Amino acid sequence: MPFLSQALGRIKPSASIVANQRARDLAAQGRDVIALSSGEPDFDTPEHIKQAAAAAMAAGKTKYTPVAGIPELRKAIRAKFLRENDLDYGLDQIIVGTGGKQVIANALLATVDPGDEVIVPAPFWVSYPEIVALCGGTAIVAPTSADDGFRLTPETLEGLITAKTKWLILNSPSNPSGAAYGREELKRLTDVLERHPHVWVLTDDIYEHLIYGGQPFATPAQVAPALKERTLTVNGVSKAYAMTGWRIGYAGGPRDLIKAMDTIQGQFTSGPCSIAQWAAVAALDGPQDGLAVRRQAFEARRDLVVGMLNQAKGLNCRVPEGAFYVFPSCEKLFGLRTATGKVIASDEDFAAELLDAEAVAVVHGAAYGSPGHFRISYAASTEQLEQACRRIERFCNSLS
Ligand code: PLP
Repeated sequence: MPFLSQALGRIKPSASIVANQRARDLAAQGRDVIALSSGEPDFDTPEHIKQAAAAAMAAGKTKYTPVAGIPELRKAIRAKFLRENDLDYGLDQIIVGTGGKQVIANALLATVDPGDEVIVPAPFWVSYPEIVALCGGTAIVAPTSADDGFRLTPETLEGLITAKTKWLILNSPSNPSGAAYGREELKRLTDVLERHPHVWVLTDDIYEHLIYGGQPFATPAQVAPALKERTLTVNGVSKAYAMTGWRIGYAGGPRDLIKAMDTIQGQFTSGPCSIAQWAAVAALDGPQDGLAVRRQAFEARRDLVVGMLNQAKGLNCRVPEGAFYVFPSCEKLFGLRTATGKVIASDEDFAAELLDAEAVAVVHGAAYGSPGHFRISYAASTEQLEQACRRIERFCNSLS
C-alpha cells in the first residue's frame, strides 16, 4: 500500500503474537487448544501490588508523571540495582518506560542511524532485530549452537565487530532458549568488548529472577565495571512479578543516554501509567519472597517438560538455565510425513502441523533466527504441560 512508510516495510509482526492469534482462532472454532506460545507468567499479580495500585487511584495519583517516571519508583529501582546487582545508578541515570520493550525501543531510536550495526545473538527475542530495522540500522545476527548452550562465544563476537558496530544486545536468561551466562562466561564476552571501546552493551535482564539450580545471576556492568559507562541495563516487573499487563520496564545507564531516551519518550508516550508506576514501587520495595515461590514452580515445570520432550521421537531438548522457555530441536523429523501425508520440511511445518493435528501451539525457531527448533513457553499449569507434552509425543510418533 503506497500510503505506508518505508520504515514499516522493514519490519514484520511478532511471531509469538501471530502464533497466539492462530491458537485463539482455532479455539474459537471449538478445538481444545493448549497454547504454549505466550511469553507471560500464568500467575496472578501479587495482592499487595494490586492494593498499592488501588490506593494510588484512591489517592488521586492519576495525573501525568515526570517523563522518566515518578521519583519514588526511580528510588525503588536505584535500591533494586544496588541490592541485587551491585550497580550504583543516580536517579538521573534511571528511566521508567511502558514495558522493557519501550525502554529498548527508546534506546535504539536514540542511538541507531542508518548504516549502524547491532549484534544480536540468535536465537533472539523477536523484537530486537525489528526495532533495529525500524531505526534503519542493520541487525548482525551472531549464531550460537546448542552445543555451546546457545551462548555467544567470544570468538564469534570478536569476528563480528566492525567499525560500524554500535551495540551488542545480550539477553540472559534468554527468550527463547532459556540459556543464561554464568559470571565467567559473561566476563569472557566483556573482555572482548573492553578491547572495542566504540561498542555499547544493551543487556536485557528481564528474566533475572527466573534462573535455576541456584546459579547466581550476572549482568555485564557488574562483572566488568569498566563497561558501565557504555552499558544500558534493562529490566522490568513483567516477568519477575507477574505484571505483564501493567507495562512497566526500566533501565539504568549513562546519564547522557538516559537523557536522550527521555527526549524520545517525552515525544512519544510521556511517562508510563501513573497507577502502574505505584504498583511497581510496591513490587520492588515490598516483600520479595514470592520471587522464590514462582521460581521453584517454574523450575519444576522446566524439569517436567524437558523430561517428557526428550522421550518424543526425533526431539532433542537441552536443559535451559532460566526463563520459562525450552527450545528443542526438531531437525531429526525433517523429511517425515504426517498421518495426512504432509511432509515436515522445516520448523515452521512442524509448528503448523502440530497445531493442526494436536491443537498445541508453539512458535517455530526460524522466527527467533534459529531454524530447526521450536519454542515452548512452560508458563502453564502442570496438567496443561503434561497433556501438551503427551500430544507432542503422539504427534512425533505418528510421523513416518
Ligand atoms: N525482553 C524480552 C527478552 C522479553 O521476552 C520480553 C517480553 O516478552 C520483553 C523484553 C518485554 O517485556 P515488557 O515489555 O513486558 O517489559
